[in-house]
Amino acid sequence: MSISVSDFLTRYRETRDLNIMLTVDEPWLEKHVCEQSSVKGPLSGKLIVIKDNINVKGLLNTCGSAFLKNYISPYDATVVERIKKAGGIIAGKANQDEFAMGSSTEYSAFGPTKNPVNPEYVPGGSSGGSAAAVAAGLADYALGSDTGGSIRQPAGFCGVVGLKPTYGRVSRYGLTAFASSLDQIGPITRSVRQAAELLQVIAGKDERDATSTDVEVDDYAGNLGNDNVRTLGVPFHLLREGLHPEVKARFEEAVAILKKSGKEIRDITLPHLSYSIAVYYILATAEASSNLARFDGVRYGVRSENSAASIDAFYSANREKGFGPEVKRRIMLGTYVLSSGYYDAYYGRAQKVRRLIYEDFQKAFRTVDAILLPTCPTPAFKLGENVNNPMAMYLSDIFTVSVNIAGIPGLSVPVGNTEEGLPVGMQILGNLYEESRILQLGHALETLQGSAVAGL
Ligand code: GLN
Repeated sequence: MSISVSDFLTRYRETRDLNIMLTVDEPWLEKHVCEQSSVKGPLSGKLIVIKDNINVKGLLNTCGSAFLKNYISPYDATVVERIKKAGGIIAGKANQDEFAMGSSTEYSAFGPTKNPVNPEYVPGGSSGGSAAAVAAGLADYALGSDTGGSIRQPAGFCGVVGLKPTYGRVSRYGLTAFASSLDQIGPITRSVRQAAELLQVIAGKDERDATSTDVEVDDYAGNLGNDNVRTLGVPFHLLREGLHPEVKARFEEAVAILKKSGKEIRDITLPHLSYSIAVYYILATAEASSNLARFDGVRYGVRSENSAASIDAFYSANREKGFGPEVKRRIMLGTYVLSSGYYDAYYGRAQKVRRLIYEDFQKAFRTVDAILLPTCPTPAFKLGENVNNPMAMYLSDIFTVSVNIAGIPGLSVPVGNTEEGLPVGMQILGNLYEESRILQLGHALETLQGSAVAGL
């Protein structure tokens, strides 16, 4: 049974204190529902919550930033266009860390989102609003964006499903860029089947995004029953230290369930994965410093009211006022690693290590069909716990960033809770364009766990 518009609005009102949505525009929604009522397609009547960095014509697109607090989008992102053509209903825009930089949604200029499972905890980030919307029952489907884990980590923290597709599988046209060589849009849903349904609609070549590829789009939902994964790789060497005991326990239980169901588990080595945080925070910040240069308060962004002595001072005043502290930190880091004299030492070297991480995965996929990893080393942390400790926040991305660095797809599925009731997620990684395969395994695991939602 799908969630109706009135159910959505009721749940939205009941959960206002969780600060999940940035925009729910009821008159816009009413008109939109009317227009969509005549569109028949695979998503007819289904509500989809959209992260606030994915443009929807006529709605605010703030990206969680005060800089864009008045920016109403004049166009639809390709994914939004495709959802509309498939009959889906855009419910509204969800909260996120400013410009998708963060792991907790606490870096939103509009206040943090709280985890619906336990409001003292963060929902993860940066797509925390999207994951919380699904977990709180506002909608069954949401879109997030994932540059270093921002779909999978919040899905893990909120106990829902999140898929980062292969780089190039989904058009980025209309996604406000953070790090263009890593960004990818993907579904956050209640079940694996719903993730397959939403991916089906948004995947495929788009002339407006030159990095989208025309590799054939599989029948993701139709193929869910044919699980043809035989061998699973687990990099046990990465799980020895720094893993929360209950995350380790839930992960091992899920591995044991899969083993019992007939899968062969192999110990694999990914020797360069320990460099992935360093590589990611060089490449992502370098690309961000360039992408965010367009926000100058002239064409995009709010202007500072103070009069400036020069054009440079004018830009500086606008950027000083518009960007929050984490975004400024990233711009400074990115500018530093790209600056002359440091480029080879940081950016150039990070590019080389990126290749080695990619090759580690390619080597592993020669012997296994999919790879299993925890989504995050810990369950959700408390609001405020890491907000002033950027290093702790960055380290929580240890298991997710390598997937973006290698460009491969990753699915996060819930594998149970801690004693305190906080969800734990596990990632299933596949080789390039093997979304169908990891969705099949995720679906099989969901069934084995008996956690498939009734009626799906
Ligand atoms: N947490 C990571 C970061 O802060 C990932 C963000 C993302 O995937 N957008 O950069």
